[in-house]
Amino acid sequence: MTPEEHLEGFGTIGGELQLGGIPLSRLAARVGSTPFFAYDRGRLDERVDRLRAALPARVELSYAMKANPMPAVVQHLAGRVDRIDVASALELRAALDTGIPAAQVSFAGPGKTAAEIRQAVAAGVIVEVESGTEFGRVAEAGERLGLVPRVAVRVNPDFAVKGSGMRMGGGPQQFGIDAEQVPGVLREYAASGIDVVGFHVFAGSQNLNAAIIGEAQRRTVDLIGTLAEHLAAPVRYLNLGGGFGIPYVERDRPLDLDAVASDLHALVDGPIAERFPDATPVIELGRYLVGECGVYVTQVVDRKVSRGKTYLVVDGGMHHQLAASGNFGQAIRRNYPLIVGNRAGAPSSETVTVVGCLCTPLDLLGDDVELPAAQIDDLVVIFQAGAYGLTASPTAFLGHPAPAEVLV
Ligand SMILES: *Cc1c(COP(=O)(O)O)cnc(C)c1O
Repeated sequence: MTPEEHLEGFGTIGGELQLGGIPLSRLAARVGSTPFFAYDRGRLDERVDRLRAALPARVELSYAMKANPMPAVVQHLAGRVDRIDVASALELRAALDTGIPAAQVSFAGPGKTAAEIRQAVAAGVIVEVESGTEFGRVAEAGERLGLVPRVAVRVNPDFAVKGSGMRMGGGPQQFGIDAEQVPGVLREYAASGIDVVGFHVFAGSQNLNAAIIGEAQRRTVDLIGTLAEHLAAPVRYLNLGGGFGIPYVERDRPLDLDAVASDLHALVDGPIAERFPDATPVIELGRYLVGECGVYVTQVVDRKVSRGKTYLVVDGGMHHQLAASGNFGQAIRRNYPLIVGNRAGAPSSETVTVVGCLCTPLDLLGDDVELPAAQIDDLVVIFQAGAYGLTASPTAFLGHPAPAEVLV
């Protein structure tokens, strides 16, 4: 998708990008400093509504809050999705602070300490165990607290998903318990007083191919079908993962959500209805819910020409929006969509390179991009910044002030 197509998603007012009906320059004045992140509530709502309309009614939506843990965003989504997935004790507290019932919170991620697991068991959330060791810690916490812990087994599947930006299942993994080890682990803890409510398979992230997502979900249901025979109680929780991707670079096409939904309807009405009548199927999404709703706004502080190449130097950079610099696990660096937000719709008139203010050549935000002639004080806007932005960036590097974040 092109920067112009991303701009259309937000719209313009008076030749400027608008967020929540506010022209960008007025929003910048209200925030009072640059750089900043802005997240658009209307677009968050649209995304949730679109998912609800497309996905089967029986499927519950979970927000993987590590994608964007800003409290206002989490609070906003808590009232709109069914569940929140957390990946640390801090996220656990933040999720519970929204008032969402503990039974609707799941805690995933490798390396959960005994203390974190005690907190999760005490709170009554679903602990997604990633190893036999974690199972043991859950059992001990249950005993000490006099509670019946609720657990879902995170399974490292015996298949891999191609086409994911980040593979998180199949082959050797730090995530989940290998499918072939699950029956043994379940046997070991059968008498430990843990309520194993179901399973979780998360095969990969940032997938833009509907057919591959559908295939992974079918294989997940098959796999859970064989593992469920080793449970004493029926499966009540069937976390199918997610991995829905968003278009970051120009050649990415948006995910065909209707195709994903059509596969999921067939799965829910067929194999899931037959084999797991008591289960709640869950789709767990991070970036797909929040990624496209957010922008990173940074001001031009210098404009210089070096041996024929024009540079725009901005007051932000990779310390806030690491992914846009290509250093967040990308194999090949490609430009994220960016525009001059206070000259939205103006025709491109020059090729410039946009760099951040850090003293490293890695701090590159736009390499040879076509833009209208930007001047000092103009506002450069990077799209697709609603997920894995601020909290996934090395903010302490060089000691610049932290950016503001606003939900508008
Ligand atoms: C990170 C993570 C997610 C969210 O991934 P996205 O690509 O942002 O959708 C979902 N589930 C688990 C277990 C994760 O670790």
